Amino acid sequence: MDLIAIAVPFFLLALLAELALDRLRGTGYFRAVDAINSLSAGTLSTTFGYFTRIVPTVIWAYALQNFAIIDMPMEWFDLSATGLALWFAAMVGWDFCYYWAHRGGHEISILWAAHAVHHQSEDYNLSTALRQTSTGFIFSWIFYLPLFLIGFPPEVLITVNALNLIYQFWVHTRFVGKLGWLDRVFVTPSNHRVHHAQNQLYIDRNYGGILVLWDRLFGTFQEELDTEPVVFGVRKPLASWNPFWANLQVYAYLWFDARHTRRWRDKIGIWFRRTGWRPPDVDTIYPKATGDLANFRKFEPPVGTGLRRYIIGQFLVAVAGVLWIGERYAEQGLAAITTPCLLLWVHLFSLGLLSENRAFASRFELLRLFAVLPAVTLATSVWTPAVSNVPWIWPAVLLYSAGSCLALALATKSGGGPVAPTDSIKSVTP
Ligand SMILES: [Zn+2]
Ligand SMILES: [Zn+2]
Repeated sequence: MDLIAIAVPFFLLALLAELALDRLRGTGYFRAVDAINSLSAGTLSTTFGYFTRIVPTVIWAYALQNFAIIDMPMEWFDLSATGLALWFAAMVGWDFCYYWAHRGGHEISILWAAHAVHHQSEDYNLSTALRQTSTGFIFSWIFYLPLFLIGFPPEVLITVNALNLIYQFWVHTRFVGKLGWLDRVFVTPSNHRVHHAQNQLYIDRNYGGILVLWDRLFGTFQEELDTEPVVFGVRKPLASWNPFWANLQVYAYLWFDARHTRRWRDKIGIWFRRTGWRPPDVDTIYPKATGDLANFRKFEPPVGTGLRRYIIGQFLVAVAGVLWIGERYAEQGLAAITTPCLLLWVHLFSLGLLSENRAFASRFELLRLFAVLPAVTLATSVWTPAVSNVPWIWPAVLLYSAGSCLALALATKSGGGPVAPTDSIKSVTP
């Protein structure tokens, strides 16, 4: 049973409810394009994960089969007092490992490169919760290895991992204030807002997943203070709506420094040192700009109303696409979703360009719309011939492409087209 797949519709409903509350109260906690960028990163993470989850799965399975200390059959995890105590131990054990994985994700450069994606949003709402990395599979499995070495059954660990992730969803909101003693025991909206802050006082604090007790135990706890309002985001802003760049940004900065430093020790060491550390020679030649939090401005390239509506409409198509891909993957496996995933990724990339209002964005989007029909033809004829026999599939694809072309023309005509250059042009100079 895939608990996360079951939770997704509830996530989407809660998100819509929070959005409605935001509009009703006029709090301004949601910006459409920012939320779309966060959800695009989440969509990318989910679909990319279908291809990369094999890495931790194989390593964990190997560790369990060959090095497990205790052979714990699944029957031990029943509803008896002992069984429930074992479930509880697995939950707490996973949360403990999560604390260290998350702490490593902030304090070691190469791990931060993966985790930074979750922190780049300068807003804070339920869409931020779904803003997840696509490259976490490379290293984060290391931190959970002890549980497999102890011998917990994989079914149990998959379940407690899912419950841990599902729990963390609700804390990404500004609509819940302080909760008294709960804020000191559990991860809550208040103490997790601190975790998403870029204020000096709040940096590298509150790493917990379910229990914030770990932070209190290991000296990384910080309460949210009325005197220090949270400024959300990261010190080096992403300044882009491109979900691919969101995943590559910190790797690119580290690569830049590694290339430009002279000492081999630093070329290798930079990846594994404390986050923020730079080789002295590179830091002298390319000094890092220091941000001014008092005058902090959110990244917001101007986008006309028509174009914004077009982006929202196309994003809803992407959401339908990712839900369809999820079902297809569960039924037919990887081969059936390869082309749909490629189409979806180009779709998300194009929405990023449109959101940044790049001069060539409309032309790229047109190219994408023209490519949909041949791509669907190829995908269905090669991997899923059954789909090509569905009578409405071709009219639907044609209608989508033609309707989108028309909508794009109207959206860009009504003042949504290229406008003044923005500061979104990226440079890999830190
Ligand atoms: Zn974090
Ligand atoms: Zn978070």
